[in-house]
Amino acid sequence: MSAALLERPLRRAVRQCAGRRHGAGAGGETTLEQIISRAWEGLAVRASVACPLCGGAMAPLGTTPGGRCDCGSELT
Ligand SMILES: [Zn+2]
Repeated sequence: MSAALLERPLRRAVRQCAGRRHGAGAGGETTLEQIISRAWEGLAVRASVACPLCGGAMAPLGTTPGGRCDCGSELT
């Protein structure tokens, strides 16, 4: 048995696994990573975004990149 024969099924399995994970993300399930990266996108252009913790309004900080919410959470 050669190494190439063993390698092929493994590669296929990895691809299937990655595809499933991508499908779950597209299916409407929002991960914490997505929520935070979306908040950062808004804060980067100095916009108020939904707080990842409480869902309230997170206002951008004055001078440093990031934001702060009334609930006390901060993204910096
Ligand atoms: Zn909050």
